[in-house]
Amino acid sequence: MNINQIKNIGTVIILSAMALWIGILFGNSFQLNEATFNETVASEHRFLLKEKLAPAFESKSSNVFSFTNKIVAAEAEVNKALEAEGKGDMKISNSYQMSLTKASGVGFVSENNLLLFFLVFGLLIFGTMLFVVPDIKKIPGIKNDGIFKHPVNKGKLLGIILGSMFISFYILLYFFPQYIINWLIVLDPLSKFMNGGLASQWFLYGFLYTIAVLTMGIRMLIKYRHNKYQMVRTGSVMFFQLIFAFMIPEILTKLNMPSADLKNMWPLDYSFFFDYRIDQKIEAGTLGTFMFVWGIVLFAVGVPVLTYFFGKRWYCSWVCGCGGLAETLGDPFRQLSNKKIKAWRFERYSIHIVLVLAVVMTAGVLYTYFTGEPKIMGVLDTGTLRYYYGFGVGSIFSGVVGTGFYPIMGNRVWCRFGCPLAAYLGLVQRFKSRFRITTNGGQCISCGNCSTYCEQGIDVKWYAQRGQDIVRSSCVGCGICSAVCPRGVLNLENLAEDTKKI
Ligand code: SF4
Ligand code: SF4
Repeated sequence: MNINQIKNIGTVIILSAMALWIGILFGNSFQLNEATFNETVASEHRFLLKEKLAPAFESKSSNVFSFTNKIVAAEAEVNKALEAEGKGDMKISNSYQMSLTKASGVGFVSENNLLLFFLVFGLLIFGTMLFVVPDIKKIPGIKNDGIFKHPVNKGKLLGIILGSMFISFYILLYFFPQYIINWLIVLDPLSKFMNGGLASQWFLYGFLYTIAVLTMGIRMLIKYRHNKYQMVRTGSVMFFQLIFAFMIPEILTKLNMPSADLKNMWPLDYSFFFDYRIDQKIEAGTLGTFMFVWGIVLFAVGVPVLTYFFGKRWYCSWVCGCGGLAETLGDPFRQLSNKKIKAWRFERYSIHIVLVLAVVMTAGVLYTYFTGEPKIMGVLDTGTLRYYYGFGVGSIFSGVVGTGFYPIMGNRVWCRFGCPLAAYLGLVQRFKSRFRITTNGGQCISCGNCSTYCEQGIDVKWYAQRGQDIVRSSCVGCGICSAVCPRGVLNLENLAEDTKKI
């Protein structure tokens, strides 16, 4: 069997796993029962809601959509009735859609969730390995083999389909998690094992994210096996995603400690200073206090010191979860980053505007926390500020656009145009860092590989042709420009200037 035949089998297995995964969404019925209703719904809403939901107790809904529609309609009627009675403060503000739907699932998916879990993810991982491992027989690295003619690339149907799938997933995850409840049911056994509770939509997200980074990380390790820097860097993002982002937070939850990704920091972790998270840490005693102080030390001391010595790559390309996904799942799309000067101009404004918004929003949140005043100078509502930042930047920009647009705008859309932490790291890198890419201009043959594969849209060739060092705030130090250069022109360095190799 030749390489292409093995890869084709891998593709068929991956598509089968995905078809099964989508089919799971329709594999349960929903039947409300009195005991779970009483356990789930708060006492002040119980009587009214039960009356409105009476039909759901008597009949089984064949799919999640009709079941949640009943809940939405019942909640709307309850809220209307409470409003009419002048009890607006008692209205249902946190919908019971998720909790009631999860508790009411009956049928094939609920009865076979463990089997389905092993089937879907076993097939997915096996198929991906069949697709990526045969590449070990190919020449390592990127080859000039008609990359822009590939069906996934910009404007091509496959790229648009892939992008639409990513975008749809994020929209469901953030805004309509009740419709993907069957996926959560499939992950319940793993969630119970890891944190003692049932799977939430964020557990699902963390699990899928980790699977993506690990499987596509193996692809990176095979593809760039000739390059030590890429091997170590890829190993690093896989390690931080698996241990720090996924396992430690779940174990902390199981131990009844505040869950935290200890490598994530403000302003990327924009809710770090939110009242409920500060209170949670204070209540958790010594460990909680340590987490709070650690988070502050990381952005106030860790960023300037480590960025001075190593550039922003220590975080963006070695540690960060967003960077980790971009460098693994996103690697096939890195050449799609826009190289035009217009994109660079836009990027300079957009990323710094998001940083300013993060600072203003956080200052407002802390002002309310310490003074108890919901509005700054009686005008600016800090709750509203926090809501719109979370919605616009936290959900739409970083999730829906940041990952959903990989197959359309390249793999670093969020890191390049929106991440406030990247903006902060970039400012330090630009003005006070030893990190630079040195160029041996005499060796450059102007092939353009470096510029093509720069995920940050930097015209690396321009610098190489002039023998000029590259010191750009947006460079995440991924090292791919150096890895794909056929002439060894580019060198990532962080030695002090006077010890610079010649
Ligand atoms: S200039 Fe090189 S190291 Fe920097 S982001 Fe682009 S490809 Fe990565
Ligand atoms: S620096 Fe290397 S990859 Fe870039 S144009 Fe020159 S020879 Fe090609």
